[in-house]
Amino acid sequence: MQDVIIIGAGPAGLSTAFWCDELGLDALVLEQAEHVGGQLHRVYNPINNYLGLKARNGEELLERFSADVESAEFDLWTQTTISSVDLKAKRISLASGENLQSIALVIATGVRPRVLGVPGEKEFAGKGMIESATRDRELFAGQDVCVVGGGDAAVENALLLADVCPTVTLVHRGKKLRARHEFREQLQSKHCITVFTESVLTRIMGDERVEAVEIHRKQGLKPFQLAVRGVLIRIGVEPNTELFRDQLETDENGYVVVNSQQETNVPMVFAVGDVSNPVAPTISGATGSGATAAKVIAGKLSAKVAQ
Ligand code: NDP
Repeated sequence: MQDVIIIGAGPAGLSTAFWCDELGLDALVLEQAEHVGGQLHRVYNPINNYLGLKARNGEELLERFSADVESAEFDLWTQTTISSVDLKAKRISLASGENLQSIALVIATGVRPRVLGVPGEKEFAGKGMIESATRDRELFAGQDVCVVGGGDAAVENALLLADVCPTVTLVHRGKKLRARHEFREQLQSKHCITVFTESVLTRIMGDERVEAVEIHRKQGLKPFQLAVRGVLIRIGVEPNTELFRDQLETDENGYVVVNSQQETNVPMVFAVGDVSNPVAPTISGATGSGATAAKVIAGKLSAKVAQ
């Protein structure tokens, strides 16, 4: 029996474990990936807004976290797949057959990029699918590309690609881009960017690599094919809550609902980081929410001991 089991080893889960150690709680972190860090591995832009720390990208910020994480005393199991969780009983069954139990559970499972689910999207991974304009744009310099999405991420990536690509086609399902004003304004001056609103990308085609996309425009227009060598999809994120969604309160998009103490509606089950923060997901918010959860758990456990 552990004091605390934390599911997920991104910034929120690591911060929770770090604070548990500070507060004298036994913590075990379960991470399904090979490495800790979660979404930090997908942050390719400079991080300039984490108070007191700057980093060239997520990997560098993770390196800075690592010194503290390595000096703290908590158990960390990577490459650990959970087959089921009983939130009320705080019982976790692993795919390996092992069963674990704790007094408190902390959900820190984060979010994953939303996929379009069109033919070609998976098949051309690494063969023309662009993961990040910051990371990959030199690879696609001089080539025609297509970006899908209408938020900040899609428009920012389209702008970055426009610096090196002869044409960038931005495909957005809505009537208006939802990206912030500053990004939309910059679009006006980038003449190589064509924006198709009320349009959906329905297929990514090619032989060995991406060669074209199929776009369906609404308003009764015929679908057409566009020759491109690269496709970048940025259509938001989804919370990783499938394992326990039916056992606790979530919002309509599956994000865990928490109070200001990171408590869910199940006693002694907490949620931290992006999985419980659809409104303002930030790295600093994630680490802060981990600290809050650990302090609240420590308070509850010491109150129990005192009784
Ligand atoms: P958003 O959720 O803001 O936008 C997602 C976009 O994808 C929307 O335009 C949405 O369309 C569209 N979309 C969603 N699902 C589908 C689908 N199935 N098919 C087609 N289109 C779809 O996500 P972002 O990734 O852009 O941004 C996430 C967060 O990160 C935001 O808070 C954003 O502000 C922040 N961010 C900030 C940046 C910066 O400050 N430099 C850069 C990048 C991101 P619709 O509008 O019709 O719903």
